[in-house]
Amino acid sequence: MKHVILVRYGEISLKGLNRNYFIDLLARNIRSALSRLESVKIRKVHGRIIVDIDDSDMQEGLERIVRVFGIVSVSPAAVIESRLEVIEQTVEDLVKPLDFRTFRVSARRADKTFPMQSMELARHLGGTVLRAVPDITVDLHDPELNVQVEVREETYVYHETIQGPGGLPVGCSGKTGLLLSGGIDSPVAGYMMAKRGLAPVGIYFHAFPYTSDRAKEKVVSLAKILAGYTGSFKLYVVPFTELQLEIIEKCPERQITILIRRYMARIAEAIAEKEGLGSLTTGESLGQVASQTQESLLVTNEAAHLPVLRPLIGMDKQEIVEIAQRIGTFETSILPYEDCCTIFVPKHPDTKPKLAAVKKSEEALAETAPEMIRKAVEDSEIIRV
Ligand code: ATP
Ligand code: MG
Repeated sequence: MKHVILVRYGEISLKGLNRNYFIDLLARNIRSALSRLESVKIRKVHGRIIVDIDDSDMQEGLERIVRVFGIVSVSPAAVIESRLEVIEQTVEDLVKPLDFRTFRVSARRADKTFPMQSMELARHLGGTVLRAVPDITVDLHDPELNVQVEVREETYVYHETIQGPGGLPVGCSGKTGLLLSGGIDSPVAGYMMAKRGLAPVGIYFHAFPYTSDRAKEKVVSLAKILAGYTGSFKLYVVPFTELQLEIIEKCPERQITILIRRYMARIAEAIAEKEGLGSLTTGESLGQVASQTQESLLVTNEAAHLPVLRPLIGMDKQEIVEIAQRIGTFETSILPYEDCCTIFVPKHPDTKPKLAAVKKSEEALAETAPEMIRKAVEDSEIIRV
């Protein structure tokens, strides 16, 4: 018997004129999430997406598709001819191996040429189930098993509905530059903005040899995990050592952290221009560390023109960890490799930096920094995962 995955989407059907655009994009993202599976074909029918897939690919197909943003739920379904005898037989075959005490049949006849109305069909198939399985009863309100039948040009029979991630199709909101470190927070931030339809381009500041190649590999691994949700993922590995040493040499120690942030923002903006990014995204959370205060945010923002999105700003570490575990980044994030910011942490960082004072310190870099920024972007290694 042939099977399909029925895909339901929610929010995007509310988008009025953009509706077709959203559905096309969602279909494209599904195709890309399932591209490894050769049997897959994707159709758009009756305001829904239907994925034709071989039984041998079904399990993997389901695992992959439930990560595609914009999907509310999916159901693996048998697809059969819209003839009563065939429907009866399929329902019987479906319920016989299942273990349940109570059930209902929900039927929907969208094809008006089919001789039975929805209610009548549901009752009729209820009889089929009662005859096929001993010791069961009908429960319309809270059944253990809900057999669903949809009659169109072809008929779908299914009983399972698996929740999708919701959100909006990746790409429908544009692209964001995700400042991706090896930590717990920034992959979660990237996941959250991708859920709102932004396609992230990763930007990782690598201070080799102060940060090892293993630290870089860790970020690449995180990018790979995120790519499971976003489709392809482009990662800039920015050589940051030179600029960082320049800051350390020429600026007051207590301002190092905030200055590093400002130069990260500037380099990210240069990449944004090249890549057509509409915002930057970071994993900052208010008060989590010394550099994440309102005063610091003000001073960092002043160095950037693009909006800086901080989806974790109001979250506790525990809440962030829970998401990291759920999306599968946590285990990689806690690998012990060093981060450039943890190597050069000043002993007494300025938690309330003053913009004027910071700008004054930057004067010492006025000659050298612009060229270093340009070179950092130019020498960035671009990794596609
Ligand atoms: P994370 O868990 O994401 O590493 P964190 O708790 O370590 O965050 P910070 O070190 O203050 O916090 O960094 C705040 C944010 O700045 C990070 O979430 C990330 O978006 C960005 N960031 C920090 N270091 C880097 C880096 N080496 N490369 C790219 N982005 C970075
Ligand atoms: Mg970090």
